[in-house]
Amino acid sequence: MKNHWVREHFAAGQVIFNEGDIGQDAYLIEHGKINITSQRGEQIKILATIDQGDLFGEIALIDNMTRTASAIAAEDATLIRISRDLVVSKLKHADPLLSHILQIIVDRYRAALGATQQSGEIRSEDGLHKLRDYAVNQIKIAQNLSDALTNSEFELHYQPVVYLDDGRLGGFEALIRWNQPNVGFISPLGFIGVAEDCGLIVPIGRWVLSTALSALTQFQSAMDRLHPNQAPLFMSINVSARQLQEFGEIDELSALIRASGIDPARIKLEVTESALIEHPETAVLALRQLKELGVLLAIDDFGTGYSSLSYLSMFPLDTLKIDQSFVATMLESEGSMRITRAIAGLARDLGMNCIAEGIEHAGDIAALREMQCEFGQGYHYSKPRNHASLLEYIELHGAGRQA
Ligand code: C2E
Ligand code: CA
Ligand code: CA
Repeated sequence: MKNHWVREHFAAGQVIFNEGDIGQDAYLIEHGKINITSQRGEQIKILATIDQGDLFGEIALIDNMTRTASAIAAEDATLIRISRDLVVSKLKHADPLLSHILQIIVDRYRAALGATQQSGEIRSEDGLHKLRDYAVNQIKIAQNLSDALTNSEFELHYQPVVYLDDGRLGGFEALIRWNQPNVGFISPLGFIGVAEDCGLIVPIGRWVLSTALSALTQFQSAMDRLHPNQAPLFMSINVSARQLQEFGEIDELSALIRASGIDPARIKLEVTESALIEHPETAVLALRQLKELGVLLAIDDFGTGYSSLSYLSMFPLDTLKIDQSFVATMLESEGSMRITRAIAGLARDLGMNCIAEGIEHAGDIAALREMQCEFGQGYHYSKPRNHASLLEYIELHGAGRQA
């Protein structure tokens, strides 16, 4: 293989590259000092002076980007030149998880670059710092995530889902939380995306399924003891697109469902619209296979995707979940009210039931009942609760609550 690992010497004052050049290489400073400068009109401004151990020009490793600043040797310096080819070939031979994580970070860096470049922000030091912080943070999350499962740092919280007509408890939605040591609770919005990108969502998703099912067994027995003769409760579980696409994963999930001994008709799997339309062929096969087991399928965040409605009939769906952005604004916005009503009507026409999420005010309930939306969930009824707190909820409200 061609040797990409090149050591170069620069005399004080010598230019390494100029602002505006197209770059292929990054440089690691082995010895000496480098000024990073930027020209504004006649004036040359020193943005930073960096020395031994520092890396510069690394954006070239990501893309054929033009240099955003010049680099000039502040004193005699020895640099190790790192070519993009080298990085690409090393990545091909690296541990697959590591190379996957890096690839994602590179993609995100590139996307962020595109966005900031358009706004002109990349030209500023501040813009570059923001990018770097973002990339570093993504790496940290991915690294910490891989330990989180083994260290039992995940926890499920459960949000009650109620029958809108009489406030009876129908079931729950399981929502993951990451209790990271020295950091505290992290919202899924902060890590599910990274977990999806690096594939960790697959083992995390299995853990969510088996934990939620064993919780359902416990919640049901509390219900049977405290409030006998109520309809059996269900558990809604969020499933990512990635879990549907992984070969053999549906067999794994099916095995977990069988092992739980729970009637599959009490298990509702929630997938988002975008998960269905990204790879509709695999998604449809995966969902049919799950459906054969007897589980229920819900489409989450309905109305927020970019899809056409024609795909709805392709998938064996039981439930539409009206996104909280419509429900939350329905009383102030005639548009949201119309969309909410249209989705509830669509669910009815397609023979599905519907869940309105994000109910925060008692005032929302009357409108949703009038639309014949069956289920609701939201802070008005209860925030997501941990296991112990959910058992208290069952004790207090298991037999129904005033709406
Ligand atoms: P989602 O599935 O749409 O979950 C509903 C989110 O809305 C939850 O946020 C919930 O706490 C919040 N919420 C519920 N009621 C209200 C309300 O009345 N008002 C407001 N403002 N918010 C309400 P959370 O728990 O932060 O979850 C965010 C997203 O993370 C979920 O959105 C879901 O897409 C994803 N997620 C959570 N747990 C899992 C999981 O186990 N697996 C996967 N793949 N994704 C998950
Ligand atoms: Ca959901
Ligand atoms: Ca949702």
